[in-house]
This record gives sequence, structure tokens and C-alpha cells, in this order.
Amino acid sequence: MEQNIIHLQVGPLGTNCYLLFCTTTRKAAVIDPGGDGELIFQQVKKNNLEVVAILNTHGHWDHIGANKQMQKWTGAPIYIHQLDKPMLYDTRLSLADWLGEEPEEAGEVICKTIAEGDILEIGQLKIEVLFTPGHSPGGVSFLVGDLLFSGDALFQRSIGRTDLAGGDFPTLIRSIKEKILPLSDDTVVLPGHGPLTTVGEERSYNPYLRTT
Ligand SMILES: [Zn+2]
Ligand SMILES: [Zn+2]
Repeated sequence: MEQNIIHLQVGPLGTNCYLLFCTTTRKAAVIDPGGDGELIFQQVKKNNLEVVAILNTHGHWDHIGANKQMQKWTGAPIYIHQLDKPMLYDTRLSLADWLGEEPEEAGEVICKTIAEGDILEIGQLKIEVLFTPGHSPGGVSFLVGDLLFSGDALFQRSIGRTDLAGGDFPTLIRSIKEKILPLSDDTVVLPGHGPLTTVGEERSYNPYLRTT
């Protein structure tokens, strides 16, 4: 399978948003449209993509802010874990209030829930869902071949904060150790914030994952 990625930084926190697409069919998934919907959609049109899925690694505002815009323009369903789904409808839970964002008007969105082991097909691409909670209760990572979209679970040399509502440090460490570190060293980690890294680098150098 041939995939390609367009990386964008969106919203007030410069959240990493990824357009992942199948080069054969041009079908695409937008991962974490956290803001700047117009910017994302420009890239969709410019690259002649058909967005068939809106994927949320978790429900924090900086990852979901342009969900509704993207759905309006593409008609694609939103995929999120059941435990983070309430954040789509609650600006307090999603931290939109905390970030000073205006609450969106309540509106129906087409939303499908995803769980550990689910496989989503985007053209010829297969996206596997890994349940990686701890930063939020329903955090997931997306594995596509040797690429891992880790959301706010794992960053280069760091991990997601666990002091927000529903966060739990031991749960996050367990998620990373049980779901991410067993992947091959060469797996490229594309996180929700900051630069990309690899599983091998984080196993060796991430200060939070040292086994002492
Ligand atoms: Zn987050
Ligand atoms: Zn974030």
C-alpha cells in the first residue's frame, strides 16, 4: 500500500494535523483537525483528495476544533473513542473554555466510536486503532504500516500531561509500554505536538520510559 502524508500545524497551539491518503484512490483521512479548517480544506482541494474519515486521537479542543467544519465540507464521519466522545459536545470537558475558545453551537455531528483493534480502511490503506488512554480517558493512537499517529500520548522525549480531567499518569505509562514500545524500532511516531520521532529513539532516550 502506498500512503502519503500532508502535515499542517493548526489552531492557537500549533497542533499537528495530518492528512493521510492513499496515493492510488486519493481517499484521505484527516487526523486531528484542531483548527484552521479553511487551511486544511485548501490542502484537500489542492491535492485532489476525497476525505472519507475525520479521526480524533482524543477529544481535547486543540485536536477537534475544526471537526464540524471538516464534516460540513466533506460529509465524512468523525471517529473517536467512546470515552472521549462526551468532549465533542461539552466545551468544559474538551478544555475549549480553558483555552478561551468560544463554545460552538450545539449541533448534530455524524460520529462513530472506535476501539482497540478496529481497522479502518481508507482506500487501500488499513488504519489500526490502538487504545492508549492516560492523557485522556479515551485516547487512541493510529497505526498505519510503520507509521504511528500518537496524539498526545507520546511526544519526542516526552509524554502527554496527565493533570487534566480524566488524565492518569500510571495509565499513560502502561499504554505506552504495552501498546507502543512493542512496535518495531523503525516505527515513525507522528505526535499531536512537536517533531516526529521513532519508537526506537523513545525506547532509548525518553526520560519517562526508563526502566529503573
Ligand atoms: Zn490533549
Ligand atoms: Zn494536544
